[in-house]
Amino acid sequence: MQELDFSEFPPGTVTEYTTLVCLACIFDIFTKQIGLAPRSAYSEIKRYSPTVEELTSRKAVRPFFDSDEKHPRCPYCDAAKRWHARLDTYAIEGGKTTDTPRRKLVKSVEKKKDQFAVIELKSDRRSTFFDWLDTLRISLDLNDPAWLLQATKAYLERKEPKQKWNKVFDGLRGVRPSSRLEEGWARDGTRLFLAPSLYNESLLVQYLVSRFHEHGGRTLEGRLTLIELIRRMRKGGYLSAHNIDATDQFEIFERLLDEVAGSGQLKLYYLVDRREFIDKVKSVYASYA
Ligand SMILES: [Zn+2]
Repeated sequence: MQELDFSEFPPGTVTEYTTLVCLACIFDIFTKQIGLAPRSAYSEIKRYSPTVEELTSRKAVRPFFDSDEKHPRCPYCDAAKRWHARLDTYAIEGGKTTDTPRRKLVKSVEKKKDQFAVIELKSDRRSTFFDWLDTLRISLDLNDPAWLLQATKAYLERKEPKQKWNKVFDGLRGVRPSSRLEEGWARDGTRLFLAPSLYNESLLVQYLVSRFHEHGGRTLEGRLTLIELIRRMRKGGYLSAHNIDATDQFEIFERLLDEVAGSGQLKLYYLVDRREFIDKVKSVYASYA
């Protein structure tokens, strides 16, 4: 099967979700619960288009399930692997940096209507940011201190997608704030210096990534509570520079989230790869009928 090419999208703008679906469960639902004959069940199932919720949920429900095993069994009906199909879903953030590669990609799959589905959904920057954060957390090993640099890099990639951050972070040993920089960054030897506001934002992202971990709230400045983080940002002039004059810490936190996540509406484009699903439905039906 030809792999989809996402190399033209800036890092952090495409989120991949994978789920397994049990066709034995689906056939069971269509034939026993809905009462269709196998032939009609087959044509319904081929057209069956799961919702974005079903495809991207972290907690799968029947007939969907997640498994890393080589030969998983359906957790609901115990069906073996030949009854399972994988559905890959790619969520692409709408926006200037992704419009061109997205149109190109959608055009390339347009002719294969059964095999791919494209679903457009309205979202907002805040929830997209938290989805991104969630995906980032899963990809990091919080027990390995290297995650702090990886999380910083991921944030910078999101903030300035045009920069070649792989190169900037190559061989890097540490990230420090520099009061000599008003904005942006500078690399010196094995260290990366960030302007204070950029540095503080990356601390906030580190805090958000690690806050529910057992030694939560870890940052490049060690363990920080939300109050300590806010105090630090106030002292560094971040709050006044961004016109945040609230006094309540939760109000301040909300405003800080607007700064790092952005605010306002956003479109999400979900590209669903149905190829394995269609193939498996055919082969399963052949053995069913
Ligand atoms: Zn099943």
